[in-house]
Amino acid sequence: MESLTFENDAVRDPAELCRMLGLDSSLAVNVADFPLLVPRTYLSRIRHGDPNDPLLVQVLPSKAELSEVPGYRNDPLSESDAVIGPGLLKKYQGRVLMVTTVECSVHCRFCFRRHCSCRVSARTIEDWSPALGQIATDRSIREVILSGGDPLTLPDAQLARLAQSLADIPHLRRLRVHTRLPVMIPARVTDELIGWLRGGRLTTVVVVHVNHPAEIDDAVAGALGRLIDAGVPVLSQTVLLSGVNDCPDVLAELCERLVDIRVMPYYLHRLDPVAGASHFDVPDEIGIRLIAALRARLPGYAVPRYVRERPGEASKVVLA
Ligand SMILES: *Cc1c(COP(=O)(O)O)cnc(C)c1O
Ligand code: SF4
Repeated sequence: MESLTFENDAVRDPAELCRMLGLDSSLAVNVADFPLLVPRTYLSRIRHGDPNDPLLVQVLPSKAELSEVPGYRNDPLSESDAVIGPGLLKKYQGRVLMVTTVECSVHCRFCFRRHCSCRVSARTIEDWSPALGQIATDRSIREVILSGGDPLTLPDAQLARLAQSLADIPHLRRLRVHTRLPVMIPARVTDELIGWLRGGRLTTVVVVHVNHPAEIDDAVAGALGRLIDAGVPVLSQTVLLSGVNDCPDVLAELCERLVDIRVMPYYLHRLDPVAGASHFDVPDEIGIRLIAALRARLPGYAVPRYVRERPGEASKVVLA
């Protein structure tokens, strides 16, 4: 796949999206600093004519985003405190997170990095050598997490070079990729992608972001199956979102569908209090009850850990 060709195939105009999905044009809202972006490959999974469709509400900007709500901030995780180098965040022992790009294939309305100032600067961090230098000098780092944005918006040739540079750092053992792309655009799971994930010295793990069982159609299941068949462990993370998945039946179906396709549910994240996303909030008590409901229904390995980020903690905080 050529670099970012899928961007050309995305819908960016809320009025056009409403027309395509048979929705009233009054639902079309423009949010200038984080505009609509949704790949066409996602649209076939959205129910026609339903303004409350759980996939639609994740991508369609709404008026609720424009109201200021106390406690919801632009940098809800104080991530700027964790920056140890250009595009490099270190919050937890042994692991660093590399912001490889600010681009995504989709603009999720609840994204905690939606106001990230880096979004308006360079599209892609072209020069990784300062970050690589920093990783090379810190022997406590065992694992590098490629994040963003979505690292898989970058071309495979570039990612393969990065993976090779990381493999050349002797104290590194693992390379993790956090991505939503295989769910949004399953064709992104190319032979080239599998090639660099499997080709190097480092153990690679892929964590896919998926929020609703209807996101996993046959194409997505096939794409994730190809990664797993190639020997790449695939885990999932989900954000608990009001009106999307805050219901025991939906969550149980999501977790069961994931283990059926051999993806292991890893984290259920509490929403970070990012400005513009307060309408997605689910109180902790409800999340805790949802996890209890999952435990009563599903095998233990199908139940994710319910976690939240709290600035300054040694790990994500497990709520249930
Ligand atoms: C979430 C996160 C990690 C990974 O945490 P795990 O619990 O190992 O999945 C690492 N670094 C940063 C900055 C993170 O936000
Ligand atoms: S894919 Fe991830 S980083 Fe990109 S907008 Fe969605 S939640 Fe944010």
